[in-house]
Amino acid sequence: MAEYKEIDSVAVIELKNPPANALSKALVTGLNNGVKRAIDNPRIKSIVLIGNGQHFSAGADITEFPRVADVTSKQGVSLLTVGDVIESCNKPVVSAIHGVCFGGGLEIALFSHYRLAVQSAKLGFPEVSLGILPGANGTQRLPRVVGFEVAMDMIVSGKPVSAPQALQYGILDKIVDGDLLTAAVQFAKTLNTVPHDRRLKNVPVPNSENANKHFEEKLAKIKQKQRGYIAPINCLKAVKASVDLPYSEGVTKEFQLFMELMSSAQARGQQYSFFSERAATKWYLSASKNYKVSKDIPVKTAGVIGAGTMGSGIAVSLLTSGIPVILVEQDSKNLERGIELIKSILQGGVKLKRMTQSQMNQILQILQPTTKIEDLQSVDLIIEAVFENLKLKQELFSKLDKICKRDTVLCSNTSTLDIDKIAKSTSRPEKVVGTHFFAPAHIMPLLENVYGNHTSAETIATVMKLSKKIRKIPVLVKTCHGFVANRTFFEYSQELRFVVEEGLLPNEVDDILEDFGMPMGVFKVNDLSGIDVGWRIRQEQAIANGFNLTTNTRYINGERYCAIADKIFQAGRYGRKTGKGWYQYDKPGGRVAMVDPNVNNIILNHCKELGLTRRKISTQEVIERCMFAAINEGFRCLEDGIASKPEEIDTIWLHGFGFPRYRGGPMFYASQVGLRKVYERIKYYQKHFPETSHWIASEMLQRIAESGRNVPISEWTKFNPTPTSSR
Ligand code: NAD
Repeated sequence: MAEYKEIDSVAVIELKNPPANALSKALVTGLNNGVKRAIDNPRIKSIVLIGNGQHFSAGADITEFPRVADVTSKQGVSLLTVGDVIESCNKPVVSAIHGVCFGGGLEIALFSHYRLAVQSAKLGFPEVSLGILPGANGTQRLPRVVGFEVAMDMIVSGKPVSAPQALQYGILDKIVDGDLLTAAVQFAKTLNTVPHDRRLKNVPVPNSENANKHFEEKLAKIKQKQRGYIAPINCLKAVKASVDLPYSEGVTKEFQLFMELMSSAQARGQQYSFFSERAATKWYLSASKNYKVSKDIPVKTAGVIGAGTMGSGIAVSLLTSGIPVILVEQDSKNLERGIELIKSILQGGVKLKRMTQSQMNQILQILQPTTKIEDLQSVDLIIEAVFENLKLKQELFSKLDKICKRDTVLCSNTSTLDIDKIAKSTSRPEKVVGTHFFAPAHIMPLLENVYGNHTSAETIATVMKLSKKIRKIPVLVKTCHGFVANRTFFEYSQELRFVVEEGLLPNEVDDILEDFGMPMGVFKVNDLSGIDVGWRIRQEQAIANGFNLTTNTRYINGERYCAIADKIFQAGRYGRKTGKGWYQYDKPGGRVAMVDPNVNNIILNHCKELGLTRRKISTQEVIERCMFAAINEGFRCLEDGIASKPEEIDTIWLHGFGFPRYRGGPMFYASQVGLRKVYERIKYYQKHFPETSHWIASEMLQRIAESGRNVPISEWTKFNPTPTSSR
């Protein structure tokens, strides 16, 4: 776990815990033993700590993540114990860094007296993203090297810095070329004693005159941009303690703030999110069809059909990942508009310094716009993003089937339509798959990939691999109307429209959702995605199911229906793009949402016409109704085999809808509320709203709730009453 060797008068201790030298108990103990052995050996004059393999250390072993009881227990060797041994050692200790040096890894380096690194190394404290802070004195040591402001930025953001940056900040003493071990041993041989100021606990925080001002500014920023999160605030307070308190009191304050986070529900939510997004991307349909064994087809060129809202963003995602794109539109006017859209997205990237003008020009070189679908004949993969109309998509896929080479993968960006119905129009259903991007497609990280009954393992592997190449987080789900994302989101948003019909106004609902942690209330989201888009989907569905949907519709097959959104559409209010929707905007395409009395009138008139008495609705009722409706549908997705594990549903909500990471996702949220309670409340709402079938509790939920025990989320699927899926 930590290998000890001697090179002349230098002891070399190699951290060894593949793949990234995570600081497991065994590794920390090994390191402690190694340092003590070097101290005890009179021939040894100095010590080098170095990582085996690709990295110095990625930090704490998250699979062994400490529980509160472990941290408070004084038994065993902790990072702090070994840190103390390193710092107080009279023989100079040098950390020689390559690869990543994160979290506890960086804390070890900061206990060391000297730090060297190779040019490509990265150093940082990512703890905040797991809902905690660097709890082995990182918050007290880093400021003593880099000053308050830089330490605050690094620890609160969790973002790593490069070796040259670390050298500039003073974290590193030297960047070395050539073999790191040779350079580190040579360097260590030049050292004889440990100067007082090389023990960081002895030095004050430099450049801290404006700490109060920086603290207040940062706090205000966190409260605005990371609303609801407590970890960044505690990180900030801990760093501030390094300025306000002597070292020995600072570390006590750090410990107190660390413990607050460790025992918080937020840390549990953020750590669950970390694990669940990894679990979700590991797809498994059968022993011969899964992420381990299935081979992908390399995508060297791609086609995108439709250069509207989604197609343009999808094209940008491909282009900026270096994949040449042939972009097809129905006519030159729409093509021109699409090219302009792509250029304006890229220009935005230049403005934000994400790329240079010349990089943007190079990207545009690999874009080939056309109105001829035949130009797609030899691309490896095509993503269709035309209007949400089954007949149109079927016609297109049938054409593509005739035009394209046999192994071209045909993807649809449909947000609701059954992939099998689209695949049926081709002679290669095994090559047809859904790639459901979220708007704006070049920004939103989620890619909900949808397999049909005939989609091959190779096709799935291809889109899952491509997703990663274009920097998306892919989740694989099975086809059905709306898949997982829109199926669950539909119940969530429908329930909120009912809430508006019963008593609250859209802005009141949105305020509640934003206080809960959603980045945007549902009505603002609706204005962003387009009220016309939702209207078209509802109309399509009505036609497909043979009923007539009007603004007078109150029930569909006995199910409650709220027509307020259709009345908003009828008033020509399509959302942000027209400058008005559920809100009034500063201008068409504007971002500043203002309450519009006209919308309130539409709602109040609607209620009057239907003879509905409006009532006050509590925050708790709003949250329960939208969340529990989505959660119940999530359980149904599991029962239907559309999702195979709750982590997939949570990852979809985290990255498709910006669900607060500290709540883990709706299914994790349910686990925290307690499934018994969720189930009881669903039954309560069913009694009160019998005309809404989403309040019929899922059988799987019922089984877990009635099991009489607190079933961990990882075991929920064992209660699936219909494990019919192949997954
Ligand atoms: P859009 O109306 O903005 O764009 C559609 C584009 O397709 C238009 O530019 C149109 O000219 C073009 N088009 C139509 N028929 C064509 C043809 N035969 N050949 C070439 N081009 C053609 O629509 P959008 O919002 O980008 O939606 C596209 C698809 O993405 C839909 O299936 C939609 O359900 C899905 N989707 C939309 C969103 C969203 O938030 N808007 C999110 C996820 C998925």
